[in-house]
Amino acid sequence: MQRGSFPRKSREAQKQKQHHGSYPWRCVALGVLLLSAGAGSLSAEETPEKAALPPPLQVVVIDPGHGGKDGGMLVAKNRLEKDVVLAAALALKEELGRQANLQLYLTRTRDIAVTILERTTMANRQETDIFISLHLTTQTQTGGQVRIYINQTRELERPAGLQFSKMQASAYITPWYLAQNGQQGLSEQLAAVLLKSWREPDAVSGESELYQAPLVTPLSVLTGVRAPAVLVELPLPAGQALDDRRFEETIRIMSRRLARGLVQFLTHR
Ligand SMILES: [Zn+2]
Repeated sequence: MQRGSFPRKSREAQKQKQHHGSYPWRCVALGVLLLSAGAGSLSAEETPEKAALPPPLQVVVIDPGHGGKDGGMLVAKNRLEKDVVLAAALALKEELGRQANLQLYLTRTRDIAVTILERTTMANRQETDIFISLHLTTQTQTGGQVRIYINQTRELERPAGLQFSKMQASAYITPWYLAQNGQQGLSEQLAAVLLKSWREPDAVSGESELYQAPLVTPLSVLTGVRAPAVLVELPLPAGQALDDRRFEETIRIMSRRLARGLVQFLTHR
């Protein structure tokens, strides 16, 4: 998607999506409707009540870190982090795309610079259910573990000496840069689900089974997001051993693990 062409999710579009789901499902639904109309009556399984209750649409914004002049870290075979996380974001979008009730956005789909504010704005304009920012680490640094960060809560900064009356305090609007504060509990839950699902049955051999807590640190890309938000550092094998085939396989496995965790979170929250 072109930068700046991010469509606003209108109420009407949301309503329409809640009724019909994504485009292919709309076609299927229309086909079923036409067939049913031709048959003259609906079977018990195809009552209008049931057909009118698809699961509500949920929105995931995937944020491939870096881009443009900001290449990020240099990884195996002289790959740049900005390219690897873009590949991972596209793979994750493909995995999640199998879920009919998800609307998926990427903050960039090619090698361009995107500011922190633009990334945050994209998340907030979409009434996002999950914001996930993708970065890299090396397996050597983490012992093969994924690292999942949530934003550290910031105190509301009030000019010295300024006192609020009760009425003023209740009308005080949270500044955008503190938006993530109100999401802290859900972000923590999201991080925990992702960490757990990362280690489930198809985990590659040799991975540690030790409990891993989410990491908490001030993160500018998460701080203004009004949705559960995490920053994930994907553990890429270091060195020259990662040929193209293994690289693609590694990206696919990692995106599948993330997709599984994201869906679990959206299903059970
Ligand atoms: Zn990074």
